[in-house]
Amino acid sequence: MSKSRAKGYRRITMGRDADNVLVRVENVSKYFGSFQALDDVSLDVNRGEVVVIIGPSGSGKSTLCRAINRLETIDSGVISIDGEPLPAEGKALADLRAEVGMVFQSFNLFSHKTILDNVTLGPIKVKKMKPAEAQELARGLLARVGLADQAEKFPAQLSGGQQQRAAIARALAMEPKVMLFDEPTSALDPEMITEVLDVMESLARGGMTMIVVTHEMGFAKKAADSVAFMADGKILERQSPEDFFAHPHTERARDFLNKIL
Ligand code: ADP
Ligand code: MG
Repeated sequence: MSKSRAKGYRRITMGRDADNVLVRVENVSKYFGSFQALDDVSLDVNRGEVVVIIGPSGSGKSTLCRAINRLETIDSGVISIDGEPLPAEGKALADLRAEVGMVFQSFNLFSHKTILDNVTLGPIKVKKMKPAEAQELARGLLARVGLADQAEKFPAQLSGGQQQRAAIARALAMEPKVMLFDEPTSALDPEMITEVLDVMESLARGGMTMIVVTHEMGFAKKAADSVAFMADGKILERQSPEDFFAHPHTERARDFLNKIL
């Protein structure tokens, strides 16, 4: 598996021309008051590429993910998905959001709805899919994340790992072009981390374009095509996982790896 991803990396990074690039972040800066959370960040993600973003707490990883999904405005620069700059508001923004699936640290399921209803809600409301069709889609996705027999339950009846897998199924139900994961396993008990990472790995193998913020270096080594290291609102380096873990270019990345490995 890691071998095929490594080959994928070479293939994927052969060219970053307009046709290959799905997510383009160009010179993006973001301030909270006088504090600069993103400092001239540029990041191109090709179709089918899996980028793992790592870096110390407060380095801007979540802000970058939220900016890509337009949950956060930016002060300068451009973010585009599939060649289209992010619209500021309205229907165009809703359509764009549907193309970007997001999975957060906290599972964010609707607690008063069943797992099945959580997954069908987006397709029915946003994509105007017929309920029967949405349910068929949802059951297929729940089976894919190993939750076929949990569809009628409510979130509180599931373990954290199951809830997070349901959140992944819910995001996939919108048939996004790219999936963003912001520390999807950080709130999980250790024994549940693997089941979520396994689902993410299988998505990666299936060719999904993914941006993943995680401290799970095993996942980065196995599934990532490239690793981007962030500190102080900047991407300090980006390279293949093999090269990054063996020879980080920057002192900051070396310090960070020494602390977490
Ligand atoms: P990371 O995900 O890498 O831990 P974040 O993107 O969450 O970092 O945060 C980057 C910096 O921006 C942090 O210093 C954080 O305190 C600050 N920040 C994030 N969101 C806000 C906000 N809504 N208001 C003010 N400061 C914020
Ligand atoms: Mg964060």
